[in-house]
This record gives sequence, C-alpha cells and structure tokens, in this order.
Amino acid sequence: MNNPMTGLHHVTAISGGPQDNIDFMAGTLGQRFIKRTVNFDAPDTYHLYYGDSDAAPGSVMTYFPFVNAEPGRAGNGMASALAYAVPAGRLDAWVARFAAAGVGFDGPHTRFGERLIAVRAPDGLCIELIETARAKGGGPDDGFHGVTLHIDRPEATARLLTEVFGYSNEGAERAGMAVRRRFLAAGQGRGSVIDIVSDPSAPSGRSGAGTIHHIAFRAKDNADQLSWRARAMEAGMDVTPVIDRQYFNAIYFREPGGVLFEIATDPPGFAVDEPMETLGQALMLPAQYEERRAEIEAGLPEIRVPG
Ligand code: ZN
Repeated sequence: MNNPMTGLHHVTAISGGPQDNIDFMAGTLGQRFIKRTVNFDAPDTYHLYYGDSDAAPGSVMTYFPFVNAEPGRAGNGMASALAYAVPAGRLDAWVARFAAAGVGFDGPHTRFGERLIAVRAPDGLCIELIETARAKGGGPDDGFHGVTLHIDRPEATARLLTEVFGYSNEGAERAGMAVRRRFLAAGQGRGSVIDIVSDPSAPSGRSGAGTIHHIAFRAKDNADQLSWRARAMEAGMDVTPVIDRQYFNAIYFREPGGVLFEIATDPPGFAVDEPMETLGQALMLPAQYEERRAEIEAGLPEIRVPG
C-alpha cells in the first residue's frame, strides 16, 4: 500500500520567446530562476525552470519557450491555470505591487473562502495568487497552491484522485453553468489542491504557447514511483516506463479527462549538476548533449535574468 499522494512536484507549460518568459516569471512574479537547460527531446529549444529559493518540489514551474510557438487555447482536457500560495494577509501587497508595476490582473475574487487574483503571462497563461492559511512563508515563495483542470465529464478523473491518489473531495462551487470541484491531497502541503472545472461552454483545449503541457505529482523516491506506476496501471492507465529527466525520474500517463499527468521523484533535485547557490546561471546539458555544447549554445537565443 502506497502512502497517499502529497501534491504537485512541478508544472510544465509552453511559452512564447524566452526573454518575455523570464522577465515575467523572475521579474513580475519574483520566482527564482533555478535551471537553464534544453528540451531533452529537442535540444534547439531551452527548458527553463523557476522555483522557490530552495528549488524545492511543489514550487517548480518549467517552460518550453518556443520562439515561434503558435498560441494555444486553454480548454477541456487541459490544465487551465496554475496557482501560487500567498500567506494570509499578504495578497493586498501583491495587488499593490502589480498596480505599481502596471501589471493587469483580475480580482480579488473569493473561491472556497480564499481570496485570489489572476494575472496573465505575456503569452496568455493564467497564473493565480491565492491567499491561504496553508501558506507559511513570505513570498509567493510559498510554492504552489494548486492547479485547475478543465474536464467536461470529471467523474473518472475524480475517482482517480480520490480512490488511487488518496485526495479528499472538498465539495463544489458553481459560477453560472460552470461547476468547480475541489480535491485536496493528504497532508494539505504545497501544491495540494486540484480543482476540476466542468463548463459546458468551454472549448476543447489546444496545445500551444500560453498553455500547460502537463502537471507532475511527487514521488518521494524511485521505489515510491514504481509503486505508483503499478497502482496507476492497475487503475487502467497507460503509463510510460521510467524516464531519466536529470533532476528527477519521470513517468507519464494521460488521465481519463485527457490531461497529461506525470509522477516525478523528489531526488536527485536541481543541485545535482551545479551548486545550489548559483542555480540557473550557466547552461546545463545532460551528458548525451555535452559534446554538442558549442553547436547547441550557438543555436539558443541569449537571455538575461532580471536583477
Ligand atoms: Zn514534467
């Protein structure tokens, strides 16, 4: 028997050009730029990682910034929004910060008793800041609150979350024709919220810039991951073998509502190939690309990390 799932490990999205992405994530949202590497399946494109000051699981947002990406559309069968947790009493400071910087936002609104605002990344990705008693620290340095999935027939996804992953069903809120169902991971730690929105007026999602590619849940080690792999397969999921992603091991499957789920190991983490103090400063390549470093570097656009 597994321990229950404890929440999100990372979220991966497709963005437009890398400079707009890094300005927004490291500048506007104040996230730490923790890894500068390439898409291991297409090394002519960056893979950029952002997280909290410790680059800890549950805070890590990653992007494939395609310079010429077609815009995508959030909708059914996709994760449609990512939310960071803001400690109680700190949302108004973010409202003031965005207003001072001329960053447009939606809200504040209230959802399941928590106040939130929503901002749009330059490519249109919806990122929410949600004030919650579960957040403990000082920033959006508190990691993820959770994600929203758009799924028109949510029953099978809900069963996967509750019966296999051990999430609790926290009830539903309605907004017009749309129903938002909330599920919460055991332990209620970082990234423990999964909301499923079922909206008859929502279009089907289309992958592209400004959309979330997949969400990754945490496994505490390789054995835990293999155990999750067996349980997901037992539940009828078509799960990939374990894939080495350098900073974690990964398995993937498409859940019944169409969203790509990953389960990623906490170890070895982002300090496996460079010191924790200087994460993100140099281009890191996995061993199979190191001999092509000069060619790969020459093909990547220059990026500047905001100070
Ligand atoms: Zn991933």
